[in-house]
Amino acid sequence: MLIGVLALQGDFREHIWSLRRLGVEAFAVKTVSDLEKINGLVIPGGESTSIGKIAKVTGVGDKIVQLAKDGLPIYGTCAGMILLAKKIVDHPDQYTFRLMDISVKRNAYGRQIESFEVYLDVAKIGKVKAVFIRAPKVLEWSSNVEVLATYEGTPVLVQQGNLLASSFHPELTDDLKIHEYFVKMVADRYESVR
Ligand code: GLN
Repeated sequence: MLIGVLALQGDFREHIWSLRRLGVEAFAVKTVSDLEKINGLVIPGGESTSIGKIAKVTGVGDKIVQLAKDGLPIYGTCAGMILLAKKIVDHPDQYTFRLMDISVKRNAYGRQIESFEVYLDVAKIGKVKAVFIRAPKVLEWSSNVEVLATYEGTPVLVQQGNLLASSFHPELTDDLKIHEYFVKMVADRYESVR
């Protein structure tokens, strides 16, 4: 079983380390042919505009959309959540993969200097340390989107079938519980399609 971390821009190395600490084989994915080898994909934090632009011109974006529709488990953190969202309320024309039925607003938790750390109560997982850096806020979500954690009443970890997204960065903490949850999603699918 192999998990890819999209490595076009952003903090992909931290995700690779988190996954490897769980004993999972993980590598940096940059091309369409890399995407063909993986059983799960993480889209890291960074700049959603930069990641999106590169994904669009390289064909990586179209491939991700196709794999997601075929059921590939994908987890997006922060910029990764923006790239998964169907609607970006403040940047409606920004290129994203438009896969999850959520509307998000970019940078809605404040600027870099207003970054913060909190403990969240996450359904099925327990207490998790979460880092918010220029994070997107989920403003709307449809009934098929499961809310696994909220912060001040707003969803910050959501799942829609094979797609998982968080406003925050678990890869910047030593808490591996969210990665563990995603690895389980990937393992379950891996077992079922083998
Ligand atoms: N503000 C960034 C964006 O809009 C996301 C920040 C992050 O990933 N930490 O793409």
